Amino acid sequence: MKYWNSTLRKMDEYVPGEQPENLDQYIKLNTNENPFPPSKSVLEAIRSAVNENLRRYPNPTGNTVRELFAAENGISADNVFIGNGSDEIFTLIFRGFIEKNGTAAFPYPSYSLYNTLAQGNGIAFETVPLKKDFSYNLDLFLKKAYDLVIIANPNNPTATYCSVEEIDRFCSRFKGLLVVDEAYIDFYGGSSLALIKKYDNLIVTRSFSKSYSLAGLRVGLALANAGIIRGLVKIKDSYNVDMLALAGAAAALKDTKAFNYNIEMMKNNKEYLEERLEGLGFISIPSRANFIFTKHPGVSATEIYEALKEQKILVRHFRGDVLSEYIRISVGTMMEIKTLCKALETIV
Ligand code: PMP
Repeated sequence: MKYWNSTLRKMDEYVPGEQPENLDQYIKLNTNENPFPPSKSVLEAIRSAVNENLRRYPNPTGNTVRELFAAENGISADNVFIGNGSDEIFTLIFRGFIEKNGTAAFPYPSYSLYNTLAQGNGIAFETVPLKKDFSYNLDLFLKKAYDLVIIANPNNPTATYCSVEEIDRFCSRFKGLLVVDEAYIDFYGGSSLALIKKYDNLIVTRSFSKSYSLAGLRVGLALANAGIIRGLVKIKDSYNVDMLALAGAAAALKDTKAFNYNIEMMKNNKEYLEERLEGLGFISIPSRANFIFTKHPGVSATEIYEALKEQKILVRHFRGDVLSEYIRISVGTMMEIKTLCKALETIV
């Protein structure tokens, strides 16, 4: 396309999991969404924000949400940035925090959007392999003087977790900027948030898409020292998070009862799915998230993916080294899991 610039021409496109039109005909376990609806109070807050005030702009920095999160987590609102999903925050980091000749590094396999966004923002990057069991070897990120490292913790798609002690040790030796993407941290805990007080080169990101069942609302947070947050505010779009999203996010943070209940149900269902998969002979990577990375010794991942799709059950199958041997299954409702397992019984 002649109007595309050279960066756009060269970059690979991010391929999200299928989002079919006629959703109710599918069991959708392919994009790590939460199968339970958002809490009633969140839906109510969004509905009541649909009023004439929509003719005004939203608060440009989402201050109510920042203050609520800060108060809950023993930090200051100056340490909190609100983004249009955590994905937007990664873009802002590439846009504002790395020089054009700098180099970033991400694990492999991991969330491939990092690669796409780096390319889109003209930032060179390398990938650093996880160990054979998909755990992190952070020392490998110290072999070169990377300007930026992003790790997902727990990682996607492997669901593996890196301890706070390891991240602490890494930060004490790393000179660049480290982003710890905690989109899935709420399910099993173990956040690195406390380390932002110790290290000024650490950004922790969070998402409302998974544990708050709000993927459609697009809200994410960056948590870091006040200087980083000021930089993010400076480089963001004028009103990056809309009024309805801010209303929903504030209500979500207040409704801790619904949040805790949702997490308990997810963990319960995830553990049930793990057991059922094991019973069917699957080999799963131990998961600290709302999805399971798994393979079967008898049937290829491609075959399983295709056979499930024929029955309108969507799971994720990635191309690429090692990745293609596995499927990633997001945890669904009990009914969805039972239907999935019944289908798997026949396939394997
Ligand atoms: N980080 C990871 C590791 C993810 O898997 C995802 C979801 N695909 C995101 C971030 C995106 O989160 P958000 O919806 O907040 O942009």
